[in-house]
Amino acid sequence: MKAAVFHFPGRISVDNVPDPRLHHLEDVIVRVTATAICGSDLHIYNGFTPQVKPMIMGHEFMGIVEDVGPGVTRLKKGDRVVVPFPIACGGCFFCNHHLPGHCENSNPSKYGPEGSLLKEKGGGMFGYTDLYGGYDGGQAEYVRVPFANFGPRIISSDYSDEEVLFLTDIFPTGFSAVEWGGVKGGETVAVFGCGPVGLMAQKVAWARGAARVIAVDIEDYRLEMARNVCKSETINLHDQDPAETIRELTHGRGADVCIDAVGQEAERSLWDKIANIVHLQVGSLNALRMCLSAVRRGGIVSVVGVYAVPYDNFPLGQIFDKGISMRFGQAPVHACIDDLIQWVESKKIRLDDIITHRVPLTDAAHAYDIFNKKKDGCVKVVMYPGS
Ligand code: NAD
Ligand code: ZN
Ligand code: ZN
Repeated sequence: MKAAVFHFPGRISVDNVPDPRLHHLEDVIVRVTATAICGSDLHIYNGFTPQVKPMIMGHEFMGIVEDVGPGVTRLKKGDRVVVPFPIACGGCFFCNHHLPGHCENSNPSKYGPEGSLLKEKGGGMFGYTDLYGGYDGGQAEYVRVPFANFGPRIISSDYSDEEVLFLTDIFPTGFSAVEWGGVKGGETVAVFGCGPVGLMAQKVAWARGAARVIAVDIEDYRLEMARNVCKSETINLHDQDPAETIRELTHGRGADVCIDAVGQEAERSLWDKIANIVHLQVGSLNALRMCLSAVRRGGIVSVVGVYAVPYDNFPLGQIFDKGISMRFGQAPVHACIDDLIQWVESKKIRLDDIITHRVPLTDAAHAYDIFNKKKDGCVKVVMYPGS
């Protein structure tokens, strides 16, 4: 079959690879009908999240069940499914606590040597490096889906692939960002990052009753989408200081909730870059720092942007002084996807209006390039293995 294979940073090619096979009783094989590129894939593509061996990319995918292991009771051949991006067993301590991203059975290899950062096992993901279990991803014609009694959700034929594909990741992630922010109605919510995740967070913030949604980015075309599609107010941080502007807009107080939908590859100032070299850090806390400045005293900073390395100069004094609450992490997709399917069914939210590019899987290398470099007005790419 054909699959988008990561070889080394900056190099993804569509290769012929062996078809996946059932390994365990509860596996299914899914024929992928649509798959998207995520901002998280860029951490691997740009070498921030390391992967040494070639690996099939992709954790946002859906398709048709083609083959079913003998232990699978919830699915049959021919079912059309969306698949949550975390791989989770459904039976361990973390799965039982609605924390599928920390499943103890999907990634036993995460045990590292004593004292290593990776000592705790947990957290398998499709196409997300050996650190996350070394599973093949779904940017391919076929993919093996483990624990198929717990993960995949059947989707009716009333909806197109594009209407439901983002239930796999970015919609639950935007939803989690807003939930962790405690948005109940009437709040001012500032969302840093107008990529697919930030745009989803903006949509969910409105749906949750936010009084005001303010979106921050550096790319004018993405800010335009935030204004047109999400009806948010926008700030380009190259033109205005976001924290000062947000305070001006909120009686000098700041936003009730700030969401970091950027993560470690945030654009940094020259001083940040120099500080990073001194501290041997690869990423940037720029977006997170801006969230901490822009949030009001006693407010909440909710972080779904990915951070993967330790950072010095984390502004603990400011967090303490302002009494800021913070939540970080991977979205617990399994825990919220059934409610979110209902949001789609009741038309409470529309997901497909952020798609800017639709390409065959064979164009994956080009698709990664334009999504990564923010070229050609690219916001979200959907790839079709069948075309
Ligand atoms: P993306 O790269 O398309 O979007 C990031 C956006 O941030 C871009 O529009 C970029 O211009 C903007 N940006 C860069 N520096 C900025 C700054 N200093 N301030 C404000 N905006 C800035 O990626 P995406 O798909 O939207 O994903 C966003 C983040 O969410 C990534 O880190 C991704 O890994 C993460 N993510 C997390 C989860 C989760 O479960 N927690 C799930 C999916 C994605
Ligand atoms: Zn993702
Ligand atoms: Zn589990």
